Amino acid sequence: MEQHNIIIIGSGPAGLTAAIYSSRASLKPLVFEGYQAGGQLMITSEVENWPGFKNGIPGPELMGDCRAQAERFGTDFISADATRVELTPDRKIVWNDDQAYEAKVVVIATGATANLLGLEKESMLMGRGVSACATCDGFFFKDKVVCVVGGGDSAMEEATFLTRFASKVYLIHRREKFRASRIMVDRAMKNKKIEFILNKVVDDILGQERVTGVRLRDTETQKISELTLDGMFVAIGHTPNTVLFKGQIEMDKKGYIITQKKKSLMTQTSIPGVFACGDVQDHRYRQAITAAGSGCMAAMDAEYYLEEVNPEHVVSVK
Ligand code: NAP
Repeated sequence: MEQHNIIIIGSGPAGLTAAIYSSRASLKPLVFEGYQAGGQLMITSEVENWPGFKNGIPGPELMGDCRAQAERFGTDFISADATRVELTPDRKIVWNDDQAYEAKVVVIATGATANLLGLEKESMLMGRGVSACATCDGFFFKDKVVCVVGGGDSAMEEATFLTRFASKVYLIHRREKFRASRIMVDRAMKNKKIEFILNKVVDDILGQERVTGVRLRDTETQKISELTLDGMFVAIGHTPNTVLFKGQIEMDKKGYIITQKKKSLMTQTSIPGVFACGDVQDHRYRQAITAAGSGCMAAMDAEYYLEEVNPEHVVSVK
């Protein structure tokens, strides 16, 4: 079986930053970049909040550059998904189909996936009026009319945030009661730019090249109506990509990996030598830059762990 110091699963900002740091520390990491390499930024047309790019940078270009940077310092990549893992304090094995790779340390950076409504037009118009991230894309809707779909804290927060740019924000929720906290609902309700549309679901998105509106269905009367819009923000929650680790690593009830299991190692999971970073362990911030920051932390924790546990195997050039 191939032996490695460190295997990183995932190649978004968290995984690639962990790779840059650990390859610069001469740990020669192996990254399972997955069939859909690059993570959520690969569907972000313009990243304007990553420091250092004053005019913004397309998401795929940023991820391509991060990958090249990791490669330059000696990171190896497998362009396939990890299909099975065995993670215990003593043994860490990651498989792609029948091929097994053993490592002393594993960093999990598999991210999270924004839940979508499942409409055909949703993926077709993603980045062309449909978005799952108000913080990323709100800026592009200056003086436009948009809607936010959802009734949780994210929907309230995103609707309120979008009023900084949009001239009007409709909040569309499928029932009358909200999962969101009272304070967040009140704040959104008090905002004059936000109009609540309740007991309605989005049945279809209108427009071919860009979003021009949505078709709504009343959940009580089944009556159909149309709403003219420039953009639709989906805020119906995220699902962490953790199916692979179920039953092996401690997670919260929503499936996010629990970190900070050791006070001195902030990214440590319930298994010594297994670290997690990025959206797979963070349902609050979910930003590319916070994911990258935690990727750096995971690489430093991994290096510290390796030096502590098997110092003879590690060459550090720090
Ligand atoms: P969430 O709490 O799970 O809420 C998801 C919302 O989307 C619910 O209102 C749900 O409706 C709706 N929904 C789900 N599937 C739908 C579908 N297919 N069609 C239409 N509507 C659908 O998710 P979240 O708002 O992303 O929040 C996630 C976590 O982060 C929560 O713990 C939240 O408190 C936290 N958070 C906190 C803050 C803050 O404190 N500032 C900000 C953001 C998030 P139903 O209610 O009918 O199921």
